[in-house]
Amino acid sequence: MKFTSTRSRQALSASEVLVRGIASDGGLFVPECFPVLDEDFVKKLIPMSYRDRAAAVLPLYLDDFTADEIRHGVDGAYSGTFDNDDPAPLKEVEKNMHLLELWHGPTCAFKDMALQLLPYLLTAAAKRCAPGWTLVILTATSGDTGKAALAGFADVPGVKIAVFYPRDGVSAMQKLQMTTQTGDNVTVCGIEGNFDDAQNGVKAIFTDPEMRKYLADRKLQFSSANSINFGRLVPQVVYYISAWCDLLKTGKLKAGETFNVTVPTGNFGNILAAWYAKQMGVPIGKFICASNRNNVLSDFIATGIYDRNREFYTTDSPSMDILISSNLERLLYHLSGNEPEEVANLMRSLKETGRYQVKPELLAKLRQDFWGASCDDRETAAAIGELFREKGYLMDTHTAVAVHVYKKYLRETGDDRPCVIASTASPFKFAPAVLPAVADGVVPEDGFAVTQMLSDVSKCAIPGPLASLKGREVLHRQSIAKEDMPEFIRNFL
Ligand SMILES: *Cc1c(COP(=O)(O)O)cnc(C)c1O
Repeated sequence: MKFTSTRSRQALSASEVLVRGIASDGGLFVPECFPVLDEDFVKKLIPMSYRDRAAAVLPLYLDDFTADEIRHGVDGAYSGTFDNDDPAPLKEVEKNMHLLELWHGPTCAFKDMALQLLPYLLTAAAKRCAPGWTLVILTATSGDTGKAALAGFADVPGVKIAVFYPRDGVSAMQKLQMTTQTGDNVTVCGIEGNFDDAQNGVKAIFTDPEMRKYLADRKLQFSSANSINFGRLVPQVVYYISAWCDLLKTGKLKAGETFNVTVPTGNFGNILAAWYAKQMGVPIGKFICASNRNNVLSDFIATGIYDRNREFYTTDSPSMDILISSNLERLLYHLSGNEPEEVANLMRSLKETGRYQVKPELLAKLRQDFWGASCDDRETAAAIGELFREKGYLMDTHTAVAVHVYKKYLRETGDDRPCVIASTASPFKFAPAVLPAVADGVVPEDGFAVTQMLSDVSKCAIPGPLASLKGREVLHRQSIAKEDMPEFIRNFL
């Protein structure tokens, strides 16, 4: 398997792609073709555990990793680290509406599915491509990636990690999770700006020739824990294949039948992983892309015009408060028929004018697969309240955006095939927004009091990793202007 950049022709191995994180031309790495799951392979997957399914699927992309490296990574990532034996259980909450709970990991959001595994993969890859070098993981976060990356990489030998988060754009629980992080190789810093500023800052550091030389002189190699790193995508492809196997195993789906997927979307990584699964043969019908009030993606699917020149809103689903969805670049590459020049032009236009328009043929292809709509905070709360009252199921704000948009899709199209909805975070991570949706009365000031009340009302236990934050010492208090990010990194190194 060879990988290329979305913006120019290259041919790199999986290990090289993971270690580099982003191409030097600013593009993202994509596979040159998609591996196909044949019938026998799927038959074998169905009775397997999640871990065994992962160990079977990952080498289809990561073909220069040894079987031992894959096995060691999968076992380390998914045994004893999740609060559930199956790290990605599928629950049919209403007829044909299956919630894929991806938040049973140590930081209570779906980012753990990939970021518990990525450190194993990256260190194995670095041994192969950059022996003796130290990896420097730069991470921009809208709230959940930061903590998941810290949890994965803290105290991993041969690695340093820096996380930038929007100072005023994450939930109190998310902030506390990050600022209390221990580890000799970690640093965490707030940015005066939003996630897009943090992500642009990180991309600029990555591609700055002076910075690259500074690092090379010191045997340091930048890499990324963001979903721009292909190593984030592959583990996410696994859980869509695994969800399909579960539907077949439980008879909710018969061989040959199709199902839909709904994903609460920000940086477009999670939904892209589902689309990759379809290219490999998973019979997915529609991809329902759910946005919050920052609805740049649902507008794009409707018009073919991507336009970030609009107001940025801080919402109750902060992990999706994004106006530049990086992974869309990968989809554009594949839909353009692998035309790096076309993608490079669109991305240049995005950089220079904040917008681009795709060709009608590309838009037609996009709309065959994708359907999009958005959901504001009021609708989010209503969706949480309704599902809790009717089914006793408590969901977080991001998942609620997806459920709301899925129901809108059902009403407008009547397409009631089974649907897998990505449930991306524990409701306890966003308790101040979730509690008022399910209970009347005043929401306490103190974050832990809110979490406790939510637990009392829902009769669900507070996840251990969140409960244990109480009383932890805050270790990272820095906050800087976005222009100062390169300087901050030099000091850290
Ligand atoms: C990151 C995140 C999302 C958005 O996922 P993308 O892959 O960036 O589209 C949705 N919900 C939660 C809880 C997240 O942490």
